[in-house]
Amino acid sequence: MAHFMDKFRTGAARFLCGRNGTDQLGGALLVLYVILVFLRSLLLLFFPYAALSILFSLLILLLLGTIVFRIFSRNLPRRQAENQRFLRWWNPRAAALSAAAARRRDRDHRYFRCKRCGTLCRVPRGMGRIEITCPKCRSTMTAKS
Ligand SMILES: [Zn+2]
Repeated sequence: MAHFMDKFRTGAARFLCGRNGTDQLGGALLVLYVILVFLRSLLLLFFPYAALSILFSLLILLLLGTIVFRIFSRNLPRRQAENQRFLRWWNPRAAALSAAAARRRDRDHRYFRCKRCGTLCRVPRGMGRIEITCPKCRSTMTAKS
């Protein structure tokens, strides 16, 4: 049995050799796939005969096909370029999301966006009504801290 498993592992490794395998774009598509499957299940639960669910199923199949195709693809330059394009789009968004999460966790400060230049201003909490001066454009606003 152990021998068989060894053989299977080396066989699988040889099969995947030179293929794209999983990357960040593949992971993101998989998450999208799970979300779509979930939404389709909800749709079918409430509207069993919805024509929309056929469209949904096609979309899900297409997505699954894309995921599998990308894993086994041997066209590495192309797949890596796709992944880089995805990361260029995704990374700034991921950074903004994690910064927003950090601000929500921050119990000691409140954050205000400057109405004139859009700069985020941080002030300590619990100081009552205060006048905030934007550190960038020097415009002022009053807010409750
Ligand atoms: Zn400003």
